[in-house]
Amino acid sequence: MADVPGLPPASQLLIGLARLGQAVRMEAWRNAGPHNLSPLQADIVALLHDRGHPIRQGEIVTALASTPPTVSDAVKTLRKKELLEATRDPGDARALLLGLTEAGHEEAGRLAVQSETLTGAVSALSEDDFAAMLRSTTTLIRELQDRRAIPISRMCLTCRFFVPRAHPDPARPHHCAFVDAPFGDAELRVSCPDHEPATG
Ligand code: SF4
Repeated sequence: MADVPGLPPASQLLIGLARLGQAVRMEAWRNAGPHNLSPLQADIVALLHDRGHPIRQGEIVTALASTPPTVSDAVKTLRKKELLEATRDPGDARALLLGLTEAGHEEAGRLAVQSETLTGAVSALSEDDFAAMLRSTTTLIRELQDRRAIPISRMCLTCRFFVPRAHPDPARPHHCAFVDAPFGDAELRVSCPDHEPATG
């Protein structure tokens, strides 16, 4: 069979992923909410909520693959909006820790509700396609993390509790040692509060 002319398949995939990223970002702008949050401000609120405790500004910069001036501006704006507050780090009096106010936690709850446009599009996938896409996505994220192209995220593939292909059941072959239960590709986590980094 003759080759189909045009860009190589890898480029086609990357263009497709960029289009998906664009859709997610556009939905984030549309979901600015009552505090008129930019996507970066929303990411900071969601990150602090996810961590569950105050963290330093540098950790936000690293986790969101941003720059100190950009995050600093967003943090200042979030403090003005009274969604975020700073407290002294008990371990280092010169350092500040950033955490959410009560209003910030409420806003994080609103942000956790996914856009109907995006969830509607995902629901068009068959169960098998959904599982394959989640598995492929986590594989790509891990490869990019290994190449230091993106920050480490708290996902199963980098978790010390993850035991891949531990069970004969093809629907639930993996094992989470944290909850001591089998699970399948469709339940792979990309962001898990119980994640602990694997060593080696
Ligand atoms: S603790 Fe979370 S990230 Fe780790 S294997 Fe279990 S579900 Fe996955």
